Amino acid sequence: MGILSSRIDLHLHSTASDGVDSPETVVRQAAALGLPAIALTDHDTVDGVARAVEAGSRLGVEVVPGIEVSSDYRDNNIHVLGYFVDPDSPALRPVLDWAAAERDDRNRRLCAMLAADGFDISMEELLSEYPAAVLGRPHFAELMVRKGYVSSVAEGFDRYLEVGRPYFLPRRRISLADAIKTIRLAGGVAALAHPFEYKYPENEVVEFIEYAMGLGVQALECYYSNHSPGQQAWLLARAEKYGLGISGGSDYHGVRKPHIHMGTGIDGNLRVPYSVLPALKALIQKHPE
Ligand code: AMP
Ligand code: ZN
Ligand code: FE
Ligand code: FE
Repeated sequence: MGILSSRIDLHLHSTASDGVDSPETVVRQAAALGLPAIALTDHDTVDGVARAVEAGSRLGVEVVPGIEVSSDYRDNNIHVLGYFVDPDSPALRPVLDWAAAERDDRNRRLCAMLAADGFDISMEELLSEYPAAVLGRPHFAELMVRKGYVSSVAEGFDRYLEVGRPYFLPRRRISLADAIKTIRLAGGVAALAHPFEYKYPENEVVEFIEYAMGLGVQALECYYSNHSPGQQAWLLARAEKYGLGISGGSDYHGVRKPHIHMGTGIDGNLRVPYSVLPALKALIQKHPE
């Protein structure tokens, strides 16, 4: 088999956001699995990218500098993947700084609410437990487990942190339009992440994809651990119909999401062929304005 049909993984998280493995460990694991290429796509940060790229050049894994930007479209948290972004782009920095400040503000308010109700969970402890992370609800849930308030991260979400639960606090996100624009201004290719995770019925997914295309989205994440074979086939057909690029990956977070495996998804259901990568590369715009 040639390289074009080799398995790759273009959706991975590290300790720079809410993954469990360091950027180097992510790359080392990719090398051990024989993946010729990966993308590091941490939530709202490129802080792990330089380390991953460096490890990749040492270990012979092509590492695409990436990001997964949280954005807002009609109060839905829409994720946009950015591939080949320049981590030092002046277009990116203020947007990521703003997102980090909003997140920090939400986290501090959440800590205050929990403390007022007698939970022994503080910002100081979160920061010392997870020094490099983009702190989010998974980290709160883990502390809840460790302190015996709940018996699992899932229970932490179900009882306390999920939308509609007593400690769900929304945070402001940039618009979907600005997320796509920022990625492209930073030299990246913008791909709509896991289009079936937003719970739209099929006819609304169509509308949503068309809307995102109008905003400049260039690719669809067709291959994804949680997509059914039918959804995958449907997305591949849509991408072809619209002339959009194809991306895909597992959304690996390490043991924080133990059912999701790098490269192979859930129970081996994922296979992203290398051939999508040169096609995505061809979508890089030389002079985005
Ligand atoms: P935040 O960024 O703080 O809003 O948290 C989002 C993170 O929480 C994402 O990585 C999600 O995968 C994770 N998450 C959301 N809902 C759940 C859940 N019910 N169980 C476990 N993780 C979840
Ligand atoms: Zn995550
Ligand atoms: Fe996502
Ligand atoms: Fe993700």
